[in-house]
Amino acid sequence: MVGGGEGSFIGAAHRVAARLDDQFELVAGAFSSDPERALASGIAIGLPGERCYGGFEQMVASEAQRQDGAEVVVIVTPNHLHAEVATACLQHGRDVICEKPLAVSLAQADALVQLAATQQRLFTVTHTYAGYPAIRHARELVASGALGELRVVQVEYAQDWLATGLEHNGHKQAGWRTDPAQAGPAGALGDIGTHAFHLLSYVGGIAVEQLCAEVHTFVPGRQLDDHVQAMLRLQGGARGMLWASQVVTGEHNALRLRLYGSRGSLRFDQEVPDSLWFAPLGEPTQRLRRGALKSPSAAAATRLPPGHPEGWYEALAQLYRDFAELWHARAEARVPPPWALATPQLHDGRQGLAFIDAVLRSHRAGQCWVSLQ
Ligand code: NAD
Repeated sequence: MVGGGEGSFIGAAHRVAARLDDQFELVAGAFSSDPERALASGIAIGLPGERCYGGFEQMVASEAQRQDGAEVVVIVTPNHLHAEVATACLQHGRDVICEKPLAVSLAQADALVQLAATQQRLFTVTHTYAGYPAIRHARELVASGALGELRVVQVEYAQDWLATGLEHNGHKQAGWRTDPAQAGPAGALGDIGTHAFHLLSYVGGIAVEQLCAEVHTFVPGRQLDDHVQAMLRLQGGARGMLWASQVVTGEHNALRLRLYGSRGSLRFDQEVPDSLWFAPLGEPTQRLRRGALKSPSAAAATRLPPGHPEGWYEALAQLYRDFAELWHARAEARVPPPWALATPQLHDGRQGLAFIDAVLRSHRAGQCWVSLQ
């Protein structure tokens, strides 16, 4: 693991998720940019001192030399390090599980794609929400034609935790997220806009071809955007909207998706993640609940019987389960099952950067329509 030291957010969640299906063991880490903190963080979670490294370069190189060296590297640092660490991992023949956004520029993402093409390594980008059974089921429903031709799509990701200038009061997670040197050129756009964009593309199965967007900063003194809104033109003629905001009061983690087709529509709300609302045209709306979802990919993403709550940890764990299945399939030279291939991979991460790039180009050109690259 690179990142995920004491006091960090997502690294600890990854450690839980990795353990959930007994397929991964944490063997080494470079948990912090501060070597002392890195050591203390590793020891606190039971690692031997010699495998708590002071820097990721040293970790990747040393582990590659060991018989029992780490086979997969999990990258849970702030954004500016993702591409650099991933590059080092690929160059040392390691598989990668990397947080979003994949990089801080489209050029970096493209360079990673090029490098990976020569390496035959596994590369997951952890768009967590793609791990929900309801989302996997929604994806299969859309692909089966149950909605008909998609006409209108709507995705929003609403939070309020950055409604005030937390970054000016020493809040660690707010600090780097609003610092272009660590977050990259996108604030809310990169942090949660990429999740919204991924969810829409993942479930809808059609590409966003053009967009017209505006980024905005509400909180005085903030260096990056805290709000983004975009109109979308999609493959096949569908039209849509995406907005993401970290300053909308009263909202916590409201990632909501609606897809309207010629024969029916779907609705998903991340804060009620075991449910999916399906409305075939002219029929009563159905609430489809986890446990009764029949599609193979939803079944493969379900651990507990209906009625026992599952949620966000399990969704993240699903990406680890997918990864493990792909890993075993490769080792056994067999074709992996479709549910494992449904995991977000390097290309999805690259598309997130294409989205950021297009939004910023559109905004800077005076909110014009631009094509995604
Ligand atoms: P955080 O600030 O809580 O943790 C970052 C960690 O990286 C810290 O432990 C820090 O010490 C460490 N770090 C910084 N520089 C390092 C270096 N040079 N070497 C090793 N470690 C270093 O941040 P966070 O909220 O956990 O976010 C981390 C990443 O996870 C971000 O890219 C973010 O976008 C992503 N994230 C994803 C989700 C999701 O739903 N998939 C949720 C939250 C965060």
